[in-house]
Amino acid sequence: MTEPVRSGSLTGTDLHLSFGQNRVLRGVDVHVDAGATTSVIGPSGSGKSTLLRVLNRLHEPDRGDIAIDGRSVLGDNPDVLRQRIGMVFQHFNLFPHRTVLDNVALGPRKLRGLSKDEAHAAALAQLELVGLAHKAQSRPANLSGGQQQRVAIARALAMKPEIMFFDEATSALDPELVKGVLALMADLAAGGMSMIVVTHEMGFARTVSDTVVFMDAGVVVETGEPDALFDDPQTDRLQTFLSQVL
Ligand code: ADP
Ligand code: MG
Repeated sequence: MTEPVRSGSLTGTDLHLSFGQNRVLRGVDVHVDAGATTSVIGPSGSGKSTLLRVLNRLHEPDRGDIAIDGRSVLGDNPDVLRQRIGMVFQHFNLFPHRTVLDNVALGPRKLRGLSKDEAHAAALAQLELVGLAHKAQSRPANLSGGQQQRVAIARALAMKPEIMFFDEATSALDPELVKGVLALMADLAAGGMSMIVVTHEMGFARTVSDTVVFMDAGVVVETGEPDALFDDPQTDRLQTFLSQVL
């Protein structure tokens, strides 16, 4: 077997962000190695989504640094950074009146400057990868939630990102549809994509991640390899959290 292509590493250092008086991130360090997966777990409101939004500069941090492959990206145009990072949300936000193929081809056409034919060919290849080439001409509404989320993943991948972010990508899905999306995410991880995954799926965090980060109230309380973190939590806060979710 050939070695999978390794995507970029990403490091956030001492990230701070406040909304008014609300100090949402209070000095967060997070890292993903090239080709590795870091999962972020923690209670609702702990700042996980905000952390992802800061890392792709939808919010500018008040303090701290963000580096890809060891080089700070804070001086770059944020649009350039966002093209290097693919993002998948809880709600997939596909264009309802466009075909599945157009949904995936639109970004490459507009932002990567591909011709219509090139973008369609690239989109079809991505749809094949997520097992949905046969749905290329369907409208999103005619797909299950799990299939729509796989289209959203194909759409992000079509931009050829170096790193993928997932923010509770399976939280809005019916339980029977969760598995297929998690399996696709696990495949991507195994294929060498760098990924930061905010998730409530502790099974995924444990079996797929190289590193797990536990956040609470805007700080990283614990970080480590999954088995150590889950089997031997060092803090009351993580113990309490795990007892609630496992
Ligand atoms: P999590 O994803 O862990 O549930 P969030 O990052 O969504 O947590 O939210 C953390 C805190 O930041 C919450 O108190 C939330 O109200 C606040 N917050 C998030 N986004 C904004 C925003 N755009 N403006 C003001 N406050 C926000
Ligand atoms: Mg969130």
